[in-house]
Amino acid sequence: MKELLLASGNRGKLAEIGEILRGCVEKMYSAADFPGLPEVVEDGDTFESNARKKALSAAMTTGMPALADDSGLVVDALDGRPGVYSARFAGEGCGDAANNEKLLRCLDGIETPRRTAAFHCVAALCFPDGTCRTFCGELRGIILECPRGDGGFGYDPLFLVPEFGKTLAELDMETKNRISHRGRALEQLRKYISQSQDS
Ligand code: IMP
Repeated sequence: MKELLLASGNRGKLAEIGEILRGCVEKMYSAADFPGLPEVVEDGDTFESNARKKALSAAMTTGMPALADDSGLVVDALDGRPGVYSARFAGEGCGDAANNEKLLRCLDGIETPRRTAAFHCVAALCFPDGTCRTFCGELRGIILECPRGDGGFGYDPLFLVPEFGKTLAELDMETKNRISHRGRALEQLRKYISQSQDS
């Protein structure tokens, strides 16, 4: 693929996506290269609709293929909450600590076998003609009763990955990026771009 706009201002995500797509995209741009990009309100009720909305808006505005993602935590005992509200679970403008405290309060009294959850990610690749392809990734785990670890962000310190016996905040970045919902969705995207180039 000749050029791709990563419709995100989040540096961590940009670095991760840039690394995964290295070699299959000739020139990558970010939202910082297009200061006039319209602000997109993430008001969809699915990760897919939010990711599509962001990528489509960027592709239509710039005339360039654009990639956006949306992700969050889906907790089984909470009927899928916080889901698309993950970033603002404790309220608009609240940070990770408040969101994590609210999650622990909501799960108070619930025993380990019922504390199952998954991180979901949908990456949308949209083109200026309005067509889109989406790629999904999931990471399943257990919500602990107390945070563990200093790495990562968001709900990482509460999210135990059973295969490793560690929370996402205790895993090194390379391992997290390899197994994470985002890593898995982006890996599918990388395969799709590579295959489209071969055909
Ligand atoms: P975003 O809109 O994809 O940036 O993610 C929305 C929210 O989901 C974030 O603000 C976090 O609360 C949560 N989230 C998404 N991915 C992760 C992750 O890898 N670890 C921890 N929390 C995450």
